[in-house]
Amino acid sequence: MEIKTFGVIGAGQMGNGIAQVAAMSGLNVIMNDINTELVTKGIANITKILKRNVDKGKMTEEDKNSVLERIQTSVDLKDMAAADFVVEAATENEPLKFQIFRDLDTVCPPQVILATNTSSIPIGRIAAQTKRPEKIIGMHFMNPVPVMKLVEIIRGLVTSDETLKTTWDLTLKFGKTPAESNDYPGFIANRILMPMINEAVYALYHGVGTREDIDIVMKLGMNHPMGPLTLADLIGLDTCLAIMETLYDGFKDSKYRPCPLLRKYVEAGWLGLKTGRGFYEYK
Ligand code: NAD
Repeated sequence: MEIKTFGVIGAGQMGNGIAQVAAMSGLNVIMNDINTELVTKGIANITKILKRNVDKGKMTEEDKNSVLERIQTSVDLKDMAAADFVVEAATENEPLKFQIFRDLDTVCPPQVILATNTSSIPIGRIAAQTKRPEKIIGMHFMNPVPVMKLVEIIRGLVTSDETLKTTWDLTLKFGKTPAESNDYPGFIANRILMPMINEAVYALYHGVGTREDIDIVMKLGMNHPMGPLTLADLIGLDTCLAIMETLYDGFKDSKYRPCPLLRKYVEAGWLGLKTGRGFYEYK
């Protein structure tokens, strides 16, 4: 089935990035969130990034405008009835995602693939919420989506070969490189990345170093593009905590216990860059 209209659930940092990349590849996009303010914020972010591309001479003003024209916003999940492929990029919360997939399953025609950008929740568990488990797949974009090349593709136990192929081909159409992971909590990327970030938070919690020193050691000593605490702020501390909880619940291994300091910051609403305060302060 030819994919012409691409649905995105969630207009947050991942959702608006995915919508931008899909529209830039020539697809019509429907970007959905729970209210007008959030979809407007998502569009404003896409506009800002496209404008930067125009200013740098990477894109023409006409191309920018046609990309924006291809993105339609929505605050009603029923609008996804018009989509040929849907990616869910809502908040990393299992009951919330379960409900979205149950709703999408009733709204979208049966042939439509429903992908999730979840960072860690097992695909099989999400698939079990629907009557089309063979059409449920993980399509895990990296942050920031327009910049990062990788899409981790996660196949649930019953995901069909056809679903995998369509998702793989779409990833290539977006100019990204797919890599396949089996369906275990955290998949490949966050199984490795998130315990490292959590350990950096423990290092801060135990007073091993200041936030700056922890970050500079990993940046200059390990040649990472940014320190783990800066990266945690970029990802969102709520998302980091949710991933650690999924790893901990999934493996029942104490090495995945989330650092109490991470939990404390999330409870205080210090979610990182998106709220202006995390391990660092942002204007
Ligand atoms: P975010 O907080 O920036 O955005 C989440 C958006 O989902 C919000 O705008 C929220 O209003 C919306 N939302 C919540 N409930 C909804 C509903 N019922 N219907 C529609 N929209 C709803 O979070 P994010 O960083 O964009 O993360 C989104 C997903 O992507 C999560 O599953 C996360 O684990 C995953 N992810 C995040 C990163 C990262 O670095 N932040 C990287 C890869 C994957």
